[in-house]
Amino acid sequence: MRITIILLLFGFLPFCSCTSSGGDATADSTASDSGQSAEAPSLSSASRDTLTVPRSYLMGQFEPSEHPDFSPIAIEHADRGGLYLRTDAYEAFKKMYAAAKADGINLVIRSATRNFASQKGIWEAKWTGARKIEGGQDATVAFPDPVVRAKTILKFSSMPGSSRHHWGTDIDLNNFTNEWFESGEGKEIYDWLTTHAAEYGYCQPYTAKGPARPNGYNEERWHWSYMPVSRPLTAQAERELTNEMITGFQGAETATEIGIVENYVLGINPSCRE
Ligand SMILES: [Zn+2]
Repeated sequence: MRITIILLLFGFLPFCSCTSSGGDATADSTASDSGQSAEAPSLSSASRDTLTVPRSYLMGQFEPSEHPDFSPIAIEHADRGGLYLRTDAYEAFKKMYAAAKADGINLVIRSATRNFASQKGIWEAKWTGARKIEGGQDATVAFPDPVVRAKTILKFSSMPGSSRHHWGTDIDLNNFTNEWFESGEGKEIYDWLTTHAAEYGYCQPYTAKGPARPNGYNEERWHWSYMPVSRPLTAQAERELTNEMITGFQGAETATEIGIVENYVLGINPSCRE
């Protein structure tokens, strides 16, 4: 087993930007709180269709600022400092940003990579009522039943361990309401993205619900995903994730009954999987 791991690591070396020895970075490592071993090999584009990452990475158990495949987002592209993306996704975004700018469109990243700890903070704030949910309600009062409460929060927020924001491939742009994208500057931005984002590898995973996308989160016109990496990671999630793995936060006991993996992780715009 040890020899196999060493051979695997040497096999990755031509493509790997890893700065640490990565002795524990096996392809099937399980989630851990340390997250230090969660290193994805940086594969060439030709290899991306078979890209796999450690399961700890898939579930957000790592620190983006310490990960060799991630880069800080420049303040000119975001509404604040301290945001991170995978470098390949960010390079593609920068090309898209420049093309949009030339067309008079100003893209602003509002959120990017959020690891398990970050998503747990968001989820538990809503779960416990510390943060009001959409509509201004305290979820503990309005929805005492755990499954109903979880499904309500899930309209817009992922359970920790199941978010595409863990992957460093997904960004939220400009404004967090669908209505904003229906007129004026918002409509111009959304029209530009729906016409051009695919040229840069970006796709909107949470389109309007309907026959093509019956399950999962509500529509999010602000959320865009870098397909060359997120597509193989979606396929890996389909192969490897189970609802029982979604644990480690308040309300996680509802994950299996709700079917987080099949309905939410995989409940995306089909064209983002092709
Ligand atoms: Zn998002």
